[in-house]
Amino acid sequence: MTDKPTTAQPSGDPAETTACCAPAETAAPADACCAPAEAKADAEAGCCSAEAAPAPAEDGCCADASGRTDVIGDAAASPVAEVDAALPVVVIGAGPVGLAAAAHLSERGIPFTVIEAGDGPAAAIRQWGHVRLFSPWRFDVDPAAARLLAEAGWARPDDDKLPTGAQLVADYLQPLADLPQLKPHLRYGARVAAVTRAGFDRVRTAGREATPFLVRLDSGEEILARAVVDASGTWGTPNLLGAAGIPAHGEPEAAAFVESALPDVLGADRERFAGRATLVVGAGHSAANTLLALADLAAQAPGTTVTWAIRAASPARAYGGESADALPARGALGTRLREYVESGAITLLTGFGVQRLTVTGEQVEVSDGARTVVVDRIVSATGFRPDHGIVSELRLDLDPIMGSPRALAPLIDPNQHSCGTVPPHGADDLAHPEPGYYAIGVKSYGRAPTFLLATGYEQARSVVAALAGDWAAARDVQLDLPETGVCNSNPVLGADGTGADSGGDCCGTPAVPEPTGRGLATGIAGGLLSAPLALTDLTPAGQSGGCCS
Ligand SMILES: Cc1cc2nc3c(=O)[nH]c(=O)nc-3n(C[C@H](O)[C@H](O)[C@H](O)COP(=O)(O)OP(=O)(O)OC[C@H]3O[C@@H](n4cnc5c(N)ncnc54)[C@H](O)[C@@H]3O)c2cc1C
Repeated sequence: MTDKPTTAQPSGDPAETTACCAPAETAAPADACCAPAEAKADAEAGCCSAEAAPAPAEDGCCADASGRTDVIGDAAASPVAEVDAALPVVVIGAGPVGLAAAAHLSERGIPFTVIEAGDGPAAAIRQWGHVRLFSPWRFDVDPAAARLLAEAGWARPDDDKLPTGAQLVADYLQPLADLPQLKPHLRYGARVAAVTRAGFDRVRTAGREATPFLVRLDSGEEILARAVVDASGTWGTPNLLGAAGIPAHGEPEAAAFVESALPDVLGADRERFAGRATLVVGAGHSAANTLLALADLAAQAPGTTVTWAIRAASPARAYGGESADALPARGALGTRLREYVESGAITLLTGFGVQRLTVTGEQVEVSDGARTVVVDRIVSATGFRPDHGIVSELRLDLDPIMGSPRALAPLIDPNQHSCGTVPPHGADDLAHPEPGYYAIGVKSYGRAPTFLLATGYEQARSVVAALAGDWAAARDVQLDLPETGVCNSNPVLGADGTGADSGGDCCGTPAVPEPTGRGLATGIAGGLLSAPLALTDLTPAGQSGGCCS
């Protein structure tokens, strides 16, 4: 096991590393003129020899007649066969899924280094430590991690209890990170700034697959890696308030009034909300959690008011499957939320897409173009998006809608799925044209909001098996979640988003049954985003608009 990662010197001008094959400082395989030993004679004769002036790789150095780099073996089947196996696998992020990957790497004896931006494990979860998970412990622990912890005498929490985020960290993730098999390989307070191939930009092909990854930290330090497992999550890149995915007018100027998701309303952040008017924007579980906390606070602190803005025409999908949800705690969130709205404790604005924010002294006006709400605080619970910026020099095949690997997108697209279920998937579905790079965990889902830890743990197992060259295990993808077709058993929501059974989608389109998957079904049918948005009506009086017109 390699204790310390191989560290490259900051290379300065990338133009210095344009030589055929990898430059010396990239620790390319010793015999590596674009890799294979049998190409060495050619190398010595020419393009890659020390004597010869290196030709640009695009000119065909070490490429075969077809122009393709001569790489030994099937790159798809053995993605990192040509990169020095003594180099560590770099895992980005010590969240639950990054730590699961570390546990699997440890079990397989593969050198690894985990780079974590926070000052301890699970930095993102610690920020929502006050929130209770909706999935019980049995679905929250990675099997390889559990095996390592059990060897160390860990007392496994009650499988049926629901931990808070803080308990997930204290009772599982921190002990896991502290195990002797993991701790020496974890680096905290280090943020990955960029990942590329050593000496290769995204365009350069010849010899690419045999060349180590270069992982640059924000300190400027560079680490060579045989593979990169990106489990950096999406917490650091929340969606914007603007309804169209770009900032609302005035959003940057109003930043001081805007909280990101899940402030600790009843705890550490109470003073910012008690006796104040708050607008919560968003329709997911984060919004629901915050709304419930604010409603509880309103009952305790006079003057506290709660307004909830959603883009949809109806809150039905935000309420979710309620008693039909396979996770009772998740279903109960929706039920409580509905009760608060019906009692008037929460003022609901439907069809409200934030267009403009205007700061007016101590308050902020929020407008959808037709209506204006004046509040003291805004909680933006509009979801998260992946940051692919750090890997923009790698060759990614991303779905244009979801920002997930293309093969995964149809399985999780919220335009079609609401179930929180997914067919089992692993390394094959997560692969990119850049062999040896995988994004796993919540980042792998791109903008889809239905990620579950258990899914991420299976991704970690499969990807690490693939990195070990154990393709039988990598492809034997299992999800220890119930198989469910519950998505099809509920009435399809009507075009107005209510629970009425319309027998199909808007405009009479027959409902398309969702495929059975594995997961923890939400108990609602159709796609989370399948109902059209109620846009601000700009139609002149007398003309009808909307669905089916
Ligand atoms: C409020 C809430 C409740 C949830 N409840 C459940 C539940 O009940 N059940 C369930 O299955 N799922 C739940 N989820 C979904 C999901 O399981 C979590 O989001 C989970 O934290 C995802 O794990 P992850 O390891 O993929 O990412 P994260 O937990 O976000 O971890 C990513 C890590 O990467 C680090 N990082 C980020 N960028 C960099 C960088 N450039 N360099 C180095 N480090 C970096 C971060 O600091 C962080 O520690 C919930 C999510 C939320 C937000």
